[in-house]
This record gives sequence, structure tokens and C-alpha cells, in this order.
Amino acid sequence: MRDNLVVAKPIHEIVKKLQDGGFTAYIVGGAIRDLMLGREPKDYDISTSATPEEIRAVFGRRQARIIGKRFRLVHVRCGKDIIEISTFRRNPDDTGQIAGKTRQQPVPENMIFRDNEFGTAEEDAWRRDFTVNALFYDPVHDDLIDYTGCGIDDMHAGVVRAIGEAELRFEEDPVRILRALKLVGQYDFTFDAKTEVAVRAHGDLILHAAPSRLSLEMEKILKNAYCDGIFTAFHDYGFLQYCLPYLEANWNSPARTYAMQLLAERNSHVLQGRYRNSISLAMAVIALPFVEAEIGLGRHGKLWTKDYHTAANIRRIIKDVFQPHNMIKRLALSAQSILSFQPDFFNPDKTRSKLLHSQGYGHAREVLMLQNAVLWQDDSMVSTWPRPMPASRRHSRSNQKRSRRRKPQHKK
Ligand code: ATP
Ligand code: MG
Repeated sequence: MRDNLVVAKPIHEIVKKLQDGGFTAYIVGGAIRDLMLGREPKDYDISTSATPEEIRAVFGRRQARIIGKRFRLVHVRCGKDIIEISTFRRNPDDTGQIAGKTRQQPVPENMIFRDNEFGTAEEDAWRRDFTVNALFYDPVHDDLIDYTGCGIDDMHAGVVRAIGEAELRFEEDPVRILRALKLVGQYDFTFDAKTEVAVRAHGDLILHAAPSRLSLEMEKILKNAYCDGIFTAFHDYGFLQYCLPYLEANWNSPARTYAMQLLAERNSHVLQGRYRNSISLAMAVIALPFVEAEIGLGRHGKLWTKDYHTAANIRRIIKDVFQPHNMIKRLALSAQSILSFQPDFFNPDKTRSKLLHSQGYGHAREVLMLQNAVLWQDDSMVSTWPRPMPASRRHSRSNQKRSRRRKPQHKK
């Protein structure tokens, strides 16, 4: 566990600029956890006493943009990245049921629909979900603030503890159950006793969460380089049945074991920087063993033709694996094309050079390499199928080709 937290320089500057403007500002959320655990934060969240308009005034309209209608945040441009800055909020006094709003499904009476009242830094900490998520860090003065009084100890002990009454907090917002299990899965944390009881007893509340929010959470999980651990935690605590029922129903199958092995391999490639993070690639990796189990696609597969039925079957299996989530069509199509590519690597009718320059070769090759690492361990595979050319070289090559093709047309 690190005690000196090293924050990226541009983030330090953003916090300082807010403080110089007369506001309180802290780094909050997942970045603090990652810094304390010595992991590279995937992004930073900043919270401040400044209102969205005041934040925009500090950074100027060119660098800062207010987003969201109900829950207003500010996006501040920082080089290539966008940093999200939120104003301190507090827990709503009531459960926030919006007057006049009728909902079709009965929902738990404590569910919160409004969470948008500004507050102090301390109030903001108490409205957060878990003690380890409520630590505030001021990098300018190197000050780590633990308003709940348990966050630092829980970080050291690796404990996920709901702030307040766990059951009530999960009723207010069932997505917190998923978030709790993500912490357990990705950091190998354990639950405090009351939080664990509530997680085990109330997993079904997630069925009340908005489908669009859940699909977004699923995309975030697939992008997480510890997602194999997260899915295992979902299963261990009886939550996977609500979140990915197909995977739960097949948990004891060889296909599921193989899917998790491939996913773990993909995650280690991402963490080592050997291949880029991609949601569609993660989807393809999870679906591949189920596709093979059903239609025999793959190295020794029987179906080599890209006929309509094979494509439709792959599409259906991907949908089955990820239902009830309505994954973005583009991601599902990309996962399908990665899988459809796999038999080509073993098809004697396909020339190697053609495949090397095919669109989608990079992702498809990565999935091939993952299978090779987990299953075949065949060195020749790596030399036969080299890393894809960098995009810049590929483009200049295709530009040359295009200009060669165009010349005769110009003469006409
Ligand atoms: P990640 O590393 O996945 O981004 P995170 O904890 O930073 O993890 P975010 O979704 O970025 O997750 O949320 C930032 C912070 O906002 C959390 O750490 C937590 O303090 C608070 N938060 C997010 N969602 C909720 C929620 N549903 N209820 C209460 N607090 C929440
Ligand atoms: Mg975050």
C-alpha cells in the first residue's frame, strides 16, 4: 500500500487552478484507490466546491464544457483527455421520487431518482457508496481526507464497506451492488459482514435498475483489465444470474472455463501493454468458446464457410451470452467479425498476405494469439501471423494503392 500518492501533473494543475480560484478541490473516487494500491489510475475524477458555472469561469469556455441536464458536470479538456469535474453534492432529504412521474414497474420504496443537490465536501463524502470510494485527496497540500473515518483502514485491510445501512443504500440504488462486487473482483477485497449479507440477499434489486445504465456498466466491466475476477465475484456472490444469466447457466461448462482463461490472458496482455483494450475483443473472447461448442468454428472446426447461417448463429450466440444487455450494435458486429475471421487463419484457400492486410486483422490476430497462449502453445503461430502494421504505415500503403488505381481513370 502506497502512502505517497503520485498524481499525474496535469491533474495536479487542474486542482491547483481551482484552489487558486478560491475553491476547495480534491481528487476523488477510483483514482485514489488505484494510487494507494500502486496501480495506474485509468482516469481521474475531481470534486470541488465550485458550481459548474464557476468551474467554467476558472478554465474558460474553450477548455471547459458543462454537460448533463439533471446532473450537471463539467468536462475540462486536458491534452487528449477529458477530465470530469463535479460539484460537491449531498444526499437528497427524501427519496427523491419525482412528483408526477409515474413508473410502470413497482420499484423499491427507497429507490433514489434525484441526487443533484449541491453540498459540502463532507456531505459529498457521506453520499458516496463505499468507505474506500469516499477518500478525498488534495495533491497540492498532500492531504488525504477520510470523512467516514473508515476509508483508510478499509483500504489497508482490503474491505468493501457500505457507507450507512448497506441494505438501504442498495435499495436506494441497486447499481451499488454491482459496484461493490466490482471492487471485490478487481482488487481481491472482501466484504464487511453487513455489506456481504446485503449483497447476497438483494442481488435481484438490480432488475429494477435502468437497462441503459446497466448496459453502460457492462461495457465498463468489459473494458476493465480485471474483468475475469469481476465475473467470478459476480458468480461467487450469486449475482451473475441477474447480470449475465447465460454465463451463470453455463458456469460449470468447459466453454465457460475456457472463456475465463481467454479473458484472463487478454487482461494480462492489456496490463502489459501488449495489446490495446477493446470492448468488442473482450466480447469476442467470451463468446468464442460458446460459438465453438455450438458450431465448431476454430482451428479444427467443421464450419469453414462464411455462409449466412454461420454468421446468423454467431450473431445469436453473442446476443445470448450478453443478454439482457443491449450492447451497442457496433460492438456486437465487431465481435462477430472477429469470430468470423478465425477460421480464415486455417483456411488453405486464403492467402496469408491477403489476410495480413485485411481490415480487422489486428483484433482477429490478437484473439488467435490468446487461443494459442491458452491452448495450443504453437510458436510457429506467432511467426506466421505477425503483429499488424501500425495504422500510419497501413494508410500510406493503402493510399499508394489507391493512387495507383486512380491513375488510369484520370487519363480517360
Ligand atoms: P472506476 O475506477 O471504475 O472509475 P470509480 O469508483 O471511480 O471506479 P466512478 O463511476 O468513476 O467509479 O465513480 C466515481 C465515484 O463516485 C465513486 O468512487 C463513488 O465515490 C461515487 N459513486 C459512483 N457511483 C455511485 C453510486 N451509485 N452511489 C454512490 N456513489 C457513487
Ligand atoms: Mg472513476
